[in-house]
Parts: sequence; C-alpha cells; structure tokens
Amino acid sequence: MPETMRALCKTRPEAGAELIEAPIPQIGPDDILVKVRASTICGTDLHIYNWDAWAQARIKTPLIFGHECSGDVVETGKNVRDVKVSDYVSLETHIATEESYQTRICQANVEPSVRILGVDRQGSYAEYVAVPARVAWKNPKAMAPEIASIQEPFGNAVYTVLSAPVTAKTVLVTGCGPIGLWAVGIAKASGAQAVYATDINPKRLAIAEEMGATIAINSAEADPVEVIKRETGGIGVDVLCEMSGNPRAIKQGFDALRNGGRVSILGIPSRPIEVDIANDIVFKGATIYGISGRLIWETWYQTQAFITTGMVNPSPVITHRFKLEEYAEAFKLMNDGDAAKVALFPQ
Ligand code: NAD
Ligand code: ZN
Repeated sequence: MPETMRALCKTRPEAGAELIEAPIPQIGPDDILVKVRASTICGTDLHIYNWDAWAQARIKTPLIFGHECSGDVVETGKNVRDVKVSDYVSLETHIATEESYQTRICQANVEPSVRILGVDRQGSYAEYVAVPARVAWKNPKAMAPEIASIQEPFGNAVYTVLSAPVTAKTVLVTGCGPIGLWAVGIAKASGAQAVYATDINPKRLAIAEEMGATIAINSAEADPVEVIKRETGGIGVDVLCEMSGNPRAIKQGFDALRNGGRVSILGIPSRPIEVDIANDIVFKGATIYGISGRLIWETWYQTQAFITTGMVNPSPVITHRFKLEEYAEAFKLMNDGDAAKVALFPQ
C-alpha cells in the first residue's frame, strides 16, 4: 500500500482547485478505506470549484472535495462487521450523527448536524477516501463505476418523484439538470401518463426527450404554463417536481399545477425567494414536500431496482468521462452548460 495518493484539493480560498499528493487517509475502528473507481461531479462541487458566496461561507480549506463516488473497500476498522475488504461500494454522502433524534426515528436525511462528504470532511476526488462503514452501500460487481457513483444523485430524483404516487398522473419536472433528467425517466418508469420537462438549455432538453419526456419545453422560447394547460385540457399537472432552484421556473411550476396537486421541491434557490402562499398553496389545496437527500436506505433499494432491472437507463445523462487530472476541462464543460453528468476517474 502506498503512503500518498493523488487528490483534487481546494488548497486556497479562491476559485479553482489543485491536484496534490496527499497522505492516504487513516481509518478509525468504525471506518472503511475505499479505493475510488469513479467520482462524479455534482453541482455542489461546481460551487466549491468556482468559490461562490455559498462555498466561501461553508467550506474550510484545505479540502479534498467530491462526494458522489464508487470504489472497492481495501481496509476495514476493527469494529467493522458488515463490510468486507473487496466489497464494491457507493457511499451515502450525508453522514448523520447516530445518536440524534432524527436518526433514531428513521429521518437521518434531515439530521441537523449531518456532515457531508467532500463538503464538511475530506471527499472522494482522490485515489482513496475514508468513511464510516455505516454509509457504505454494496453494489453488484457488474455495475459500471460511473453508474454506481451516480446512484447518489439518482436517489435524489427517486425520492422526489416517489414522495407521493405518480402512476397514471401528469408530472412536470422543472429543471433538466442531471437530477431532473433522471426524474423524467423515473416518473415514466413509475407509470406517469405524461411527463413534461422544462429547461433553458437545448442540450439538456434533448436528453430529456431521450429519457422519455412527453414534451421537453424550452422555457426561454415558449411559455410552459400555456403548453401544459393546453395539454392537460386546462386542468394543469397533478405533480410538480421542482429541480431547478430557479425562481422563474418555480413560479411557472406552481402556475402549471392543478388545484389539489402535489409539489416536491428538491431545487435549491441561491437566495430566499417569494412564494404566493395564499394563491399557490392555500387556495390551491397543494401538498408540498421538501426533499432533502435520500431516505436511508429505502431510496437506495429503489434506486438499485430502477437501474439494475433496466426500468431506467441512467446512461444518457452521463455525457463526459475524464481522468482526475483532466479536472479543469471537466469543470469548464460544466460551467459552460455543455455537459450533464461528468465522471472523473482517479485510478
Ligand atoms: P443543475 O444545476 O445541473 O440543474 C438545474 C437545471 O435548471 C439546469 O439544467 C438549468 O439550466 C435549469 N434551469 C435554470 N433556469 C431555468 C428556468 N428558468 N426554467 C427551467 N429550468 C431552468 O443541478 P442538479 O444537479 O440537477 O440539481 C438540481 C437542483 O437540486 C439544484 O438546485 C441543486 O442545488 C439541488 N439539489 C438538491 C439536493 C437536495 O437534497 N435537496 C441534492 C442535490 C441537488
Ligand atoms: Zn451532490
């Protein structure tokens, strides 16, 4: 076993990142060491890379960032029983405190002092990553590394779409980032009668069609509310999955929702935004779900089922693959809006 590894590190509080030689993380008695096969780029990583206001307030440098990943267990702590060396795992990246109230009542996804891998502790843009064994999810050996890695954000989409029934319903997905794109496929596979998707990026809208969108609406060119009202006989959609975080898209989503409809919000606006509670929620009789992370482990079982049975093919969303050292090109593609999900391979 070598003593050092290559890692992509936010060494200084400024834009960019640096490929460094770092010590291989030490594991504690309850931890595992994972040799990373693939680590995929999340929007959060882009915030960290670009060093925006959110990152400046949240991130302490130096930080090896990255959290969506898959890899092989190469070492286990002395208390670890259920995970073995050579297990092929992905990671639940929200590491909740075990003793807290929410964890004990099966709401670990909203545990208040949750620590996120690659945000609050050293992450997976590296040859190795150390985590508590209890966040390991075992993968079938045949699963491709980048597919195993994207189960984490795919799980965000699963949790959002399935937070209430979609079978035979009309669904609107606002925002066709990777998570919205998978949500389109998940809603279709779960028996939605129609799935409308909006974005302002033509490349992503093309992927939405590939994922099974009934109509992919470019909301920079057409009014999605008009299109959806027309398609639903003036009623509006039964279900809104908000996956953009964009105030305009959110307003359009509520306007396109039928009275008595369901809204599940995953997207994170960059600042507090105004919502018309009286008209869009109260008089509409809307049911609103806030979606944070994944249900542990229910969402992971559902995710694995969607992917391994072929009910949803996640591949069209994975547009680019790079070696870890090609990170600058990868982040540029993301910043230019030319990619959906990008995978980095550190080995
Ligand atoms: P992303 O940024 O790639 O996707 C957002 C999409 O919204 C982009 O494709 C963008 O073009 C589109 N968009 C922007 N303006 C729009 C408009 N006016 N109308 C329609 N679409 C518009 O992000 P992602 O990785 O797919 O994540 C989706 C959202 O979920 C983000 O806001 C992200 O921060 C958030 N997120 C939340 C959780 C959670 O646990 N709640 C987890 C991961 C990500
Ligand atoms: Zn993420």
